[in-house]
Amino acid sequence: MKPNPGSYAILAALVLFSALAAQVLGWTAFGRQIDQYAYDFVFRLEQPAPWQASSIVLAIDNRTLTKYDGLTGIRAALADGLDRIAPAHPAAVAVDVILAESQAADNQLEAAFARIHNLVLSSDMQPDGSQWEDPIPRFRKYAAGVGEVHADLDKYDAVSRDLPLEKAAGIDRRWTLALETLRVVRRADIVESPEDLTIGPERIPARDRDRDGRNLRIRYTPLKMGGIPMVSVANLDANPSLSSRFAGKVVFAGVTAQTATDRWMTPYSNGVIMPGVEMHANAYETLARQMFLVDVPLRTAAAVTFLFALAAGLVYAVTSGWIANALTLLILIAAQIVPAAAFAHSVVWPWMPGTSAVVLASASAAAWRHLLVRRRLARAESEKIRYQQTMQFVSHEMRTPLTAIQGSSELIGRYASMPEAKRRQMADLINSESKRLARMISTFLSVERLSENGAEIKRERFPLRDLVERCATRARPLAENKQIAIEILNLPPDDLVGDEELMEYAVYNLLTNAVKYSPPQTRVTVSAEEERGDRVRISVQDQGIGMDKKEVARIFEKFYRTRKAEQSGEAGTGIGLAIVKQIVNEHGGTIDVESEPGRGSKFTLVLKRAS
Ligand code: ADP
Repeated sequence: MKPNPGSYAILAALVLFSALAAQVLGWTAFGRQIDQYAYDFVFRLEQPAPWQASSIVLAIDNRTLTKYDGLTGIRAALADGLDRIAPAHPAAVAVDVILAESQAADNQLEAAFARIHNLVLSSDMQPDGSQWEDPIPRFRKYAAGVGEVHADLDKYDAVSRDLPLEKAAGIDRRWTLALETLRVVRRADIVESPEDLTIGPERIPARDRDRDGRNLRIRYTPLKMGGIPMVSVANLDANPSLSSRFAGKVVFAGVTAQTATDRWMTPYSNGVIMPGVEMHANAYETLARQMFLVDVPLRTAAAVTFLFALAAGLVYAVTSGWIANALTLLILIAAQIVPAAAFAHSVVWPWMPGTSAVVLASASAAAWRHLLVRRRLARAESEKIRYQQTMQFVSHEMRTPLTAIQGSSELIGRYASMPEAKRRQMADLINSESKRLARMISTFLSVERLSENGAEIKRERFPLRDLVERCATRARPLAENKQIAIEILNLPPDDLVGDEELMEYAVYNLLTNAVKYSPPQTRVTVSAEEERGDRVRISVQDQGIGMDKKEVARIFEKFYRTRKAEQSGEAGTGIGLAIVKQIVNEHGGTIDVESEPGRGSKFTLVLKRAS
């Protein structure tokens, strides 16, 4: 089965539409959400090799809070904890506790801060986003930096997958706590460019997305590493030797107790929530170890989405059945592998567009194929019926001369004493009928010859006038039966080049059609005129039943007959014009039809004339 160019164009449109729809689907809230789940899934699948964490969490946990009289004891607990770890000389201490107002234990905390090298304090944004809640000056003066701890969770499922690297309250900007801590640890300035940030030799690939700012996808420590190391203040109190674990580390100090409000879900958490301070420590690990996850450029993802749709469409253009299904499955698997493989190379690739492109394109291509097959079947069925009718007609047509020949020859044989005149008449009849039979057979053979692809046609030279005269003579008996006049107008003295026999078939067919499909007492006119170049236009015009545009568009189809033609009672097979067109095409010519229902038709052959 070979689809025509038109149906390929439809398939191409379907593929393009599927790719576009898949891309757009990926941008909807639904698509983004599914992509986030897919992200979480590969995140859990692709655990990086464990590493030695450079950070540690100093936790104010449930036990610590119980010991220090609940939330009011946070500053005292923090001060004790810092006092215990100071002798171990941590590389830096980032404090994830908002210290924007004075409280009872402030003296003790201030004294603890004074002993800490590389202290980084926190600032949170006021709920209306207008101002920062900065640490009070008595603490601020010990801090080498202040980072912000405002969390932007996923709008839909509140999972913490990424973190804004900077936030602005009005024009007042702060780096996120982890980045500010890294700046302090590296003792270098942060240099900004539209594509990234750099601290000394380290580059952070975080594009400035205008209103959305710069983003960092957090590479949470894998489960098999057991998360970021954590020691609580209560444990330190009970076992002071634990302080050695803080030596040279970057400490993130904050509340981990369940009563703390900033606790987030992560791709790993599976329902278990992570304290904010641990999330900041994870962000620090991501930055310090350069474990960045960057988004694939939109153009690349869109191109691959299109390729997936194209591949799924092509499958149904060239195969069908089980092979097509199997190939589609392979493409679908490829659409799953691409995001996973990209993730393995630290590139985040959206899952939704690729997969939905394959599903949409293969579903529409399969439907396309199904409709195509059904249409072909219907057409083949009706062609078969018409072919059978043709065979009946042909055998009927041949039987008429055969019966005449048979009857006449029997009569001659039976009656020896037949009058000479009668005998002559019968002999003439036998002669003319056998010639008719021979002509019919030769026409059918010519047609057969034409339909054999690549058959060579003859290239002889013959006068146009003779051809037209001969056809008119042959058609006249038919015309006279209906009192139709065949008129030949000014024919130029040109010669045509080609197969004379086939050309005669074509012109004769137009003439007999004109006679067949015209009412009695009308006129059929044959005319010809030279055209510029080496062409000649031969027209056959009648005053017959005519056709509308839709009918004209179909008359060159094999076996097609108009309803009016069928009702006219004229015998026909609907194959003549198909053959005429084929003959004209083989001769490098064209055929035009002008027709109007009830007013008549004009068939014009445009052919090459001999120079
Ligand atoms: P047939 O005459 O055997 O039906 P053709 O292939 O010669 O087959 O013509 C196809 C159809 O085109 C005809 O059945 C008829 O409906 C239409 N047709 C052809 N010539 C004319 C004409 N001169 N006027 C009106 N209809 C025509």
